[in-house]
Amino acid sequence: MIRVNPHYSKIQANYLFAEVAQRVKNYLAAHPGADLIRLGIGDVTHALPAVCVEAMVRAAREQGSDETFHGYGPYYGYEFLREAIAKTDFQARGCDISAEEIFVSDGAKCDVGNFQEIFDTDIRVAVPDPVYPVYVDTNVMAGRTGAHVGGNYEGLTYLVGNEANGFVPPVPAEPVDLVYLCFPNNPTGAVATREQLQAWVDWARANGALILFDAAYELFIQDPAIPHSIYEIPGAKEVAVEFRSFSKTAGFTGTRCGYAVVPNECRAYDASGAAVPLQPLWKRRQSTKFNGVSYPVQAAAAAVYTPEGQAQCRALIAGYLANARIVLEHLNAKGYKTFGGANSPYVWFNAGMESWGFFDRLLNEAQVVTTPGCGFGNAGAGFIRITAFNSRENVERAMERLDKIL
Ligand SMILES: *Cc1c(COP(=O)(O)O)cnc(C)c1O
Repeated sequence: MIRVNPHYSKIQANYLFAEVAQRVKNYLAAHPGADLIRLGIGDVTHALPAVCVEAMVRAAREQGSDETFHGYGPYYGYEFLREAIAKTDFQARGCDISAEEIFVSDGAKCDVGNFQEIFDTDIRVAVPDPVYPVYVDTNVMAGRTGAHVGGNYEGLTYLVGNEANGFVPPVPAEPVDLVYLCFPNNPTGAVATREQLQAWVDWARANGALILFDAAYELFIQDPAIPHSIYEIPGAKEVAVEFRSFSKTAGFTGTRCGYAVVPNECRAYDASGAAVPLQPLWKRRQSTKFNGVSYPVQAAAAAVYTPEGQAQCRALIAGYLANARIVLEHLNAKGYKTFGGANSPYVWFNAGMESWGFFDRLLNEAQVVTTPGCGFGNAGAGFIRITAFNSRENVERAMERLDKIL
């Protein structure tokens, strides 16, 4: 008899965005034609940088001629892109990362979700709370957790972020083998200082653990003291894998490109306690299950690393960050305790009441759609996430409405 993966039955329905959509639908049914402003979804709203579009069109034309046609590309990405990434994103920041340590993919969600496959089923896993749900659900599917009880999965360690620690959780007191970190953070917008990241790297080295560092929002960092990469931290290459994405930094959410950094020195251990380099395992996994990112998309991603591309991405991000600043100013003026927004497109704030109640209030009284923090984990209860991914005009209109009702 064909049987299903029993662990899938433990996974909670993706309640958060479905419930947001349902409440919006109900509101619109009762108020046809209402002028809703959506500050809830974590998707960019502005077009790709022009230099990326030009590169993609050129590359698409190359695919239309026998002389310039590209068939299957290299499993780990074209050299032209891996070299540009290594140089601009790492070497220029003093990180000793080479093109051979870069693995191009169709986005960070896949990489972050797939990476756990190369580890044993019975390792102990820690995730942040509040959390980007991919870290949790992929480990549930793999059978690394027990049942969902009281909002948490049994067998997972939750690294609780709160106002006291500024949503940068300390290293766990209990034994953990694999930890997911995300800075700048989704959903809280928090960033980690050099000292905080050093503490995590030191902990991983002392405990034979590994850090999966999600830096999808790296380019939003404005504070020069905040590290952009975990490899800015001494000792990180042995104990950390980093994930990056062109989605939020260059508008690639619908175009699809990202990459993982798996340094030569990065290691895990076998059952006898002997160190095993991770890079050959990731190469084996990718070359078996993945056939590379399309040539036009890699050409578009490489254009990000031209001087024009860098300027155009910075301009995109400056626009979103200006939106975030407007949101922060209005919420702070009303006395709300806010987090994020300065080095991140997300503003996270203490609603002073239960998340869904506050969500409903903003929807019903201001026609502004947000995201209830409780949907990202127990530690998000009482918080709201507002995203800067919208036009300046819509953000300003939304804040005028909030000024009136709050
Ligand atoms: C958006 C996002 C990603 C990127 O996903 P892609 O698959 O590259 O579009 C990764 N991690 C976090 C935390 C995100 O919010």
